[in-house]
Amino acid sequence: MEEYFRLRNDLIRSDSTSLGLSQPSELEALASSKLNLLREEFSSRFSIDDMLDFWGIKDRVISTRLFQTLKKMPKGAVLHLHYGGTLPATEVLPLLKHDPQIYIKIEGGQITTYGSYQENATQLSEFLSNPDNEQLFVTAIEMNREKSFGLPSQRWTHFEGIFTATLLYTYTEKRIYEKYLEIFFTKFYEENIQRIEYRHMPFAMKDLGRTIFIDEEMDFIKGLCDKFSSAHPDFSSGTILSTHKAFSKERIISEGEEIYRLHLKYPRFVLGFDILGEEETYKEDEEIYAAIHVIRQKAKESGNDFPMYIHAGEVVSKPAPIIYDAFALETKRLAHGISLIKHPHLMEIAKEKKITIEACPISNMLLGYVRDPRIHPALAYLFQGLPVTISSDDPGLFGYCGVTHDWVWIYVLWGIDLMHLKKLVEYSIDGCTEPEEVRRAWEPKWQEFIQYLANLEI
Ligand SMILES: [Zn+2]
Repeated sequence: MEEYFRLRNDLIRSDSTSLGLSQPSELEALASSKLNLLREEFSSRFSIDDMLDFWGIKDRVISTRLFQTLKKMPKGAVLHLHYGGTLPATEVLPLLKHDPQIYIKIEGGQITTYGSYQENATQLSEFLSNPDNEQLFVTAIEMNREKSFGLPSQRWTHFEGIFTATLLYTYTEKRIYEKYLEIFFTKFYEENIQRIEYRHMPFAMKDLGRTIFIDEEMDFIKGLCDKFSSAHPDFSSGTILSTHKAFSKERIISEGEEIYRLHLKYPRFVLGFDILGEEETYKEDEEIYAAIHVIRQKAKESGNDFPMYIHAGEVVSKPAPIIYDAFALETKRLAHGISLIKHPHLMEIAKEKKITIEACPISNMLLGYVRDPRIHPALAYLFQGLPVTISSDDPGLFGYCGVTHDWVWIYVLWGIDLMHLKKLVEYSIDGCTEPEEVRRAWEPKWQEFIQYLANLEI
């Protein structure tokens, strides 16, 4: 009997040390127990089934003490966000409502939007002056329960449509980009985020209908980001310039070359390169990734780096070779990486080379890749010591702001404790491109948060 319990306890001890969690301080242990109580309170109100029905409870959870507390938690860096997908319709509408330059078209029940006048188009401000149309517009630019149904590829059809419509007005005009970015950063800053590295699709910006040159576009965006950091010295940002799988091979390659040039010009702002787009139905053209490899080789020969932050492994229903391309291109981080769980050798590489996995649990749930976050592979990665972080991908298109929903969902559904949350935050700091600076900003805030939690009267 004694022998059995000794063996069993050894297993428990070795299992938990492999996680690499730091020993909680006395204050952290107290704070952790308080957070557990808030989780119990939350779970007495919302069942697991409620949490799997995100649309049914997303707005109601905001008033819970658990949500409000995790909103305060300093979260380090958010590494996976797409410009244009971060703000819900409630934030976007006021930006567009009174702008006389925004026009929309309604085609087959779908709204498409434009930054400047198009033939047969309707002025958005005029369209929205009829209050009945407001809901129609909201439905056109957000996912909902009806659209989040079926296989990932079916859901993606709606998602891509919404994303394209949203991008058309958020990207096409400088003045909209400026206002959008300010609100986007403010919303995340209010959730105690120290850094954002967001994906931006370049070459599309206009100024009152005039297409602007890419260097002007970059100067403009960098200026906006710098301005926000000057006003908030404990916050910084950078961008990963992204092209799209749907573009022609020639276009992807020429954009890759331009993005490399821009990385050299703004090394601390243009962080690197990515290729976006749906993976489930994508017919892969390895030559595209091979051509990007050539650009990287040239960079290496001249003593430079061209960092990769590749979307790969956002797929569940078939073997997805892009994950091999991502590793062959020595990706610094893996965007999504759901299917990495099927590749033990790649998992070893990720662990050894500290390739950070950008997990987006709510996005993956709503797009049908991992319908139940309790079995999200990111939990397995965390328990196996792989660097994994929590992001919200396109929260606005899913009808929420920021990233706190994602933290609430994993904290409740994964049954983890405060030290696991701390580890996930630390991985985000280690995995960003300015780890020292972010850690300096984050550490005092963490101490403050722990003290706040420990003092909570529950
Ligand atoms: Zn993404």
